[in-house]
Amino acid sequence: MHYLFSPLSIFEFFYNAFESMRLALFPRKVERSDLQILEKHFPYYARMNPKFKKEFERRLQYILSSRNFHPRGGLQEVTEEMEVLIGATITMVIFGWKKVRLPHFRKILIYPNQYYSSITRTYHKGEVNPKFGIIVLSWRAFLEGLVDEDDGINLGVHEVAHALKLENQIRHNDEFNFISASVSQDYRAHMALEKEKMKAGEDSPFREAALINGDEFFAVVLENFFERPEVFSEQRPEFFKTMTLLMQQNPLVVSPRVKVEKA
Ligand SMILES: [Zn+2]
Repeated sequence: MHYLFSPLSIFEFFYNAFESMRLALFPRKVERSDLQILEKHFPYYARMNPKFKKEFERRLQYILSSRNFHPRGGLQEVTEEMEVLIGATITMVIFGWKKVRLPHFRKILIYPNQYYSSITRTYHKGEVNPKFGIIVLSWRAFLEGLVDEDDGINLGVHEVAHALKLENQIRHNDEFNFISASVSQDYRAHMALEKEKMKAGEDSPFREAALINGDEFFAVVLENFFERPEVFSEQRPEFFKTMTLLMQQNPLVVSPRVKVEKA
């Protein structure tokens, strides 16, 4: 396991203090138009009961107030819809923890489409940069991930999953080790088992990209956890249960699907 120390730690400490003050004075309010966007395009929120919705809105307001969104690669502007749907994706992934906010990843860069990464020298749809606390997303790929709710592919969740795992390892702010070590151990056992099944060519709810490495596996598992929890829980009930403990939430409870009566 490696920890990420940054020479910017002291700067970051003061910056965070300043940001909290700014946020207290000038929060980015969640407006009625924002809620309409969520109701229409963000099913996790739309399915919630009123009590969870209120909590979601409060935490979304914090997330939106504490992030900076920047258009890149010819994108003219960051629209309200972009802010709200990306902010909602972060809020959804961290919803199980009362105090987790991913403060390290405060900068969001949005490209209109796939973009060329000078680091990997290939085209990307998204990535996270832990050194500079940046999440990068292609808006087109983000939307495609959101629109199809049944394919278990969701770029937003995927990149926020990477950020979540990194934040859990960053020592210099107060968000560190919020993922339970004993549950992580169970998780790793499930991962090993699942990888074996996948390599043996067995049917799996997870797509092949999960086999690239541990980080990719986790990101793909979270895409399925949020996008099609019913498939995940039906096909891998024990693994799904471990994920609800790891993430401190069960999407089937927080955001219940319409029940189909069994004959
Ligand atoms: Zn990835």
